[in-house]
Amino acid sequence: KPQNERQKLPVVPQGIERDEFLKALAELKSQLGDEHIEINDKPLRDGWYMEHPNTHDSMTILDEEEFVASAIVYPGSTEEVQQIVHWANKHRVPIFPISMGRNLGYGGAAPRVRGSVTVDLGKRMNKILDINPEDYTCLVEPGVSFYALYEALKEKGLEEHMWIDTPDLGGGSVIGNTVDRGVGYTPYGDHWAMHSGLEVVLPMGEVIRTGMGALPGNNTWQAFPYGFGPYSDGIFSQSNYGIVTKMGMTLMPNPGGYEAFMYTFAKDEDLEQLMEIIRPLRISNILENVAQVRHVTQSLAAIGQPRTRFYSGTGPVPQEVIHAAAAQTPLGDHSWAYYGMAYGPSHIRAHKLALIDQEFKRIPGARRIDPATLPEDEYFWARERVARGVPDIHELRWVNWAPNGAHIAFSPVSPIRGRDAMKLFALGKRIHEQYGIDFFPAFCVGLREMHLIVEIVFDRADAEQKARALGCLRDLVDQAAREGYGEYRTHLVLMDQVAGTYSWNDGALMKFNERLKDALDPNGILAPGRCGIWPKRYRGRGWEM
Ligand code: FAD
Repeated sequence: KPQNERQKLPVVPQGIERDEFLKALAELKSQLGDEHIEINDKPLRDGWYMEHPNTHDSMTILDEEEFVASAIVYPGSTEEVQQIVHWANKHRVPIFPISMGRNLGYGGAAPRVRGSVTVDLGKRMNKILDINPEDYTCLVEPGVSFYALYEALKEKGLEEHMWIDTPDLGGGSVIGNTVDRGVGYTPYGDHWAMHSGLEVVLPMGEVIRTGMGALPGNNTWQAFPYGFGPYSDGIFSQSNYGIVTKMGMTLMPNPGGYEAFMYTFAKDEDLEQLMEIIRPLRISNILENVAQVRHVTQSLAAIGQPRTRFYSGTGPVPQEVIHAAAAQTPLGDHSWAYYGMAYGPSHIRAHKLALIDQEFKRIPGARRIDPATLPEDEYFWARERVARGVPDIHELRWVNWAPNGAHIAFSPVSPIRGRDAMKLFALGKRIHEQYGIDFFPAFCVGLREMHLIVEIVFDRADAEQKARALGCLRDLVDQAAREGYGEYRTHLVLMDQVAGTYSWNDGALMKFNERLKDALDPNGILAPGRCGIWPKRYRGRGWEM
């Protein structure tokens, strides 16, 4: 919107009069201080990754004004978070917590309900409260990014002693990424599994500590995640049941050496045999990290050049064109690249790497790329840094594939199996072709399952492209679900649809989620609609999309 039009804002949450809302905000200002509340009445700026907005989704697939905050509030402590929650209950204002708001591809900093007040925890609550080099753990606040944690280890001279695990982009929040069940690429890549202990402000304002944190005087909050009784942490991930104000995280001991490696495989169809080879190696920990099996199209895009450099036609770039371009790069004219890392001293690595080599080379034409032949800015080195816990932002480059590049992800889960991989690959390819979109599949291989991450890159200034990308995604979600595959995580815009696919026994799981929501948040103020969970006062009123 033009600036003069936006200045008439804020967008007021539905069901509240504008003046009443402004009065309520003034009351909150008097409690927290004027400078800690901002009304969202300026032009919406997308910025870039390191200067991202906290008002909306800078990579939006809808109109930017759809999922937009009315105001932003910056608490400085757990007590202030409680005050905000009490205020929201009093005035029935929807609030939406973010840690740092870099959830790009899944909604960025945007709230699900237009006009929510965004609680930006990270700006002021950004302390590393503890780093314990004996137990290899830390305790952090929401504003601690992977970069900040890494730098803190360096400052304390501990970076040789223990490693962090980072997602592909290091600018996100350790807490934000973990509560959204994000992944990284060392053996500690399943972030949720690696956390230990939460402090949470509940929707009515009480504070709890989970696990051992509930026992006064304990010294095991970050060492034993379960404590006694029901394990409650799970309900605070991918949900809207609480605001996490502290989290414990385990850190990885330096394994005493590492060696990144890369193989390429010639044909699309090699994926089937490759997955059959990977599964036993991964489950038995010979393949040790959450590696990526990427299609050449995305590896080519990771160079950072727009697709028009390779192709000026419409529709997906033909595979012959992709292969011809890849032939000019260290990838060569192959379809898949496996990026992995072996850990430990050289004699231990040598044993594992020999086994991997022997197994991978059973696939005709499989090639090991010698890292010594790769230039410094080759994508391989970004994977190498991330696999040893060094934060990076190289991964952003494939977003340049489209002008005004933005992306949104389709991320179904499957077993590590050839036939599942091929089924998902064929399904994805067919639907992308139908919508005329380039297909970027990358399999992130966990211990017994894998997430297929498909990134759709689009021009955020082009409404027609956005509509096509969304149509494609909606079909992907539905058709994958019909085959028994569900998303591990999704964008705000798809949350209702994805939640709807988890429908066993007449939607029994969602009924349970709704009962929990109504018990914990009777006024329905906390992140309504997140992960498809709507509080009572919103249900059946047309909010789902
Ligand atoms: P936030 O945006 O702060 O939080 C995410 C969501 O969690 C919020 O919207 C909110 O609903 C909830 N939340 C956050 N904090 C709290 C809290 N304290 N209490 C309650 N709820 C809360 N992600 C990966 O996991 N792995 C990857 O490898 C990866 N690669 C990416 C590559 C590219 C090129 C891009 C653009 C994105 C990638 N992402 C990846 C997605 C995203 O960038 C990261 O997951 C990022 O860490 C999420 O942003 P954040 O940490 O700032 O979390």
